[in-house]
Amino acid sequence: MSADRRVLPDAPNRRGWCPSLLRPMPTGDGLLVRVHPPLGRLTGLQARAVAQGARHFGNGHIDVTARANLQIRGVTPETQGPLAASLEAVGLGDVRDDGSVQRLTLTAPLAGPAIAILAEAVEAAGRAVAGLPAKTLVTLEDGSRFGLAGAEADVMLRLVDPDRIAWALATPDGPVWFAAVPTAQVLRHLTESLHALAASGARRMRDLDADTLSRLGADSTAIPPPLPAPALEPGLHDFGGDRLVLAVDTAFGRCSADGLDSLAAWSDAIGAPDLRLSPTRGFVLVGTDSEGARRAWDALGAQGFVHAADDPRGGVAACPGAPACASGTTPTLGDAARLAEALGPLIAAGLTAHVSGCAKGCAHPGAAALTLVGHHGHYDIVLDGRPDALPAMRLTFEAALDRVRSADSAAALAQAFRTTDTMSSPA
Ligand code: SF4
Repeated sequence: MSADRRVLPDAPNRRGWCPSLLRPMPTGDGLLVRVHPPLGRLTGLQARAVAQGARHFGNGHIDVTARANLQIRGVTPETQGPLAASLEAVGLGDVRDDGSVQRLTLTAPLAGPAIAILAEAVEAAGRAVAGLPAKTLVTLEDGSRFGLAGAEADVMLRLVDPDRIAWALATPDGPVWFAAVPTAQVLRHLTESLHALAASGARRMRDLDADTLSRLGADSTAIPPPLPAPALEPGLHDFGGDRLVLAVDTAFGRCSADGLDSLAAWSDAIGAPDLRLSPTRGFVLVGTDSEGARRAWDALGAQGFVHAADDPRGGVAACPGAPACASGTTPTLGDAARLAEALGPLIAAGLTAHVSGCAKGCAHPGAAALTLVGHHGHYDIVLDGRPDALPAMRLTFEAALDRVRSADSAAALAQAFRTTDTMSSPA
């Protein structure tokens, strides 16, 4: 698709709109352009083009999403066309123009070539279905040690052997898995499911009515769900042979143009063929130069990337908030960094937290032990719930931080936010 077919949005924060190169989305800091790298992988050339585009045509800020996409922020109506042209020139252009999801699949960063081939077949099947909801997601795993646990997929595929794939449909009660069938057959099930979703007007597969969901799995054999495979943690992983895997996450999903340039330079230096985006909002480099990988790990950590599994920022999700998003009224990123520091020991013990600019919960729609939800410059406090759940109280950020600092256990933290005093007001 060419840049002269771009569509400027006519309504801010349009729901159900999949932002792309040619269909940007207005936000608090200008237009947001989402880049969907094929297979969630970037060559060094493509990474540098995104960094250059963010620097020259945006405000230099890049978001890394949980679906392995990149978002360039601060774009203007005047710079959007040149930005789109520069990224199309390196193979990062839009693949459809109906506002539907540009990339349907999510694959683990260490997935092998068989998954790449399957992903291309799934993408082709998806492009043939008009009007797919913007959030449609198909996850592909190969049963290896590291996977995509936690991804909210509509359809899940798991390669069992070279030509047999187990599959699952999302339902209101969680995914229902079906026994492995040959690739051609699973692609037929997938196509039928995607057509049903597109025709329904629902946003997600789990929202389809029970009759439709049972019809889609009617001639399949239900099986127990496979064990979820966790995502690769940040760090330097030596899996033997000559493969050294370097995984770094971005702090709260934010990366700068300079940071992306650094990643591209280190990728070249350690002999990695590409930069693989991960569902933990980070990057994975698979290199062969172990000494160089260690230097890269140090340097990227010094640049602010989350490079160790015990970094407390890894336990706190945060959206861009204010001023980047027009729906936000609180500086979520700065607040999340301070909250992570205060929560350090509790995060090390497994607690999760979320600082959300509003109840939409873009960074983490699911539940966390502690969620701060921005509301007119204050935060609603949600315990063990989603951002749109009923809050326990409303506080200023400093008052919330005082309560966090007073707690030395998860139970004490919950208690601290159940005690009303003069600092809080009923939500
Ligand atoms: S959750 Fe954050 S990024 Fe999403 S709409 Fe609200 S303020 Fe904006």
